[in-house]
Amino acid sequence: MQGFCNHRPMGRQEKRTIVDIANPPLCGGCKPFMTNCTFVEINSALREHERFAVLGHVRPDGDALGSQLALALSLKQLGKDVRVWNEDGMLEKYSFLSRAELLTKPPSVPEDVDVAIALDTAIQNRLGTALEAIRSAKIWINIDHHPSNPGYGDLVYVDPTAPATGQILFELIKNQKLPLDGDIAENLYVAICTDTGSFQYRNTTARTFEIAAELVRVGVDVGSVSQQVYENFPRRRVELLRELLRTMRFEGKGHVASFSLSLKTAAQLGVIPEDNEGLIDHLRAIRGVIVAVFFEELADGKVRVSMRSKSEKADVCAICQKFGGGGHTLAAGARIRGTLAEVEERVLKAICDVVDCNS
Ligand code: 5GP
Ligand code: MN
Repeated sequence: MQGFCNHRPMGRQEKRTIVDIANPPLCGGCKPFMTNCTFVEINSALREHERFAVLGHVRPDGDALGSQLALALSLKQLGKDVRVWNEDGMLEKYSFLSRAELLTKPPSVPEDVDVAIALDTAIQNRLGTALEAIRSAKIWINIDHHPSNPGYGDLVYVDPTAPATGQILFELIKNQKLPLDGDIAENLYVAICTDTGSFQYRNTTARTFEIAAELVRVGVDVGSVSQQVYENFPRRRVELLRELLRTMRFEGKGHVASFSLSLKTAAQLGVIPEDNEGLIDHLRAIRGVIVAVFFEELADGKVRVSMRSKSEKADVCAICQKFGGGGHTLAAGARIRGTLAEVEERVLKAICDVVDCNS
């Protein structure tokens, strides 16, 4: 995915030439992805500057957190001054990551940096308060794998064929001979392992396994990481699953499955947002289900909608974009204003309009 650049890096005010790469992956309403630079140019920006902020999306997952820490650690080894900020701080679930303590919530008083780097973040405002913590940056770098990424920033590297932002970072690090040690490898491995659903999703390629092998050679302890990621859930997460399954419903001849979480139930169980991650997979795993949906009532009058699809024909990124969200063809989300019941009705209808619910 290199070699698509046709111009020099530019300042924020300069006009940017966007290069649409040939054969963009299909993603319904999502725009073709955009990349305007090479690894060489990103590498130059990294080596030529001193103060960095490495950011990731709100409600982070393993790819966001692992990618943030991996790139930050590589920059630190180059002797750089690095901040690693995420609106939600480090999640309890991922606090086992090597050097997890480096990742903090952003400060309330904005800071100047030379370079701000957005990782795994499809739209800039999903950086949340981390975006507000940067007063000025000479250069914005945007490295991501979401097809809905519009290409914000000065140096944009968006590769939607990559199953994880961590995979793009590995390629950048290897290609440009940036530092890579056991701590960095573990963070990259977790980023890739979690975003591929343990190397199961269809964008997992031979290259992904080659990268995983190399990371293991660098020192990743697969058994230990897997236990931390998949066999260390708090009991309340399974209690949450029990409640969610009570609300499970099917639409369109069983092609669409959903469940929902009200604020009341969340409070009764004492769950925290990270407890949700992966629970939707129980719906997707059901035979006949094409689209799985998780509705979560939020305190701000909105509902967080999470969608998974088993078919390229049921492009959930396009469906979520109709509601102001985005993501990938087979995994996407949105935050929609309304009550749980209203949002459920609108979204399930939109899905049934796309998915053949009569066959
Ligand atoms: P999840 O369902 O795991 O929260 O998110 C699945 C995918 O959809 C992720 O790639 C995530 O970035 C994207 N996504 C989730 N919620 C939103 C949203 O509100 N807006 C946008 N643009 N993307 C979202
Ligand atoms: Mn990702």
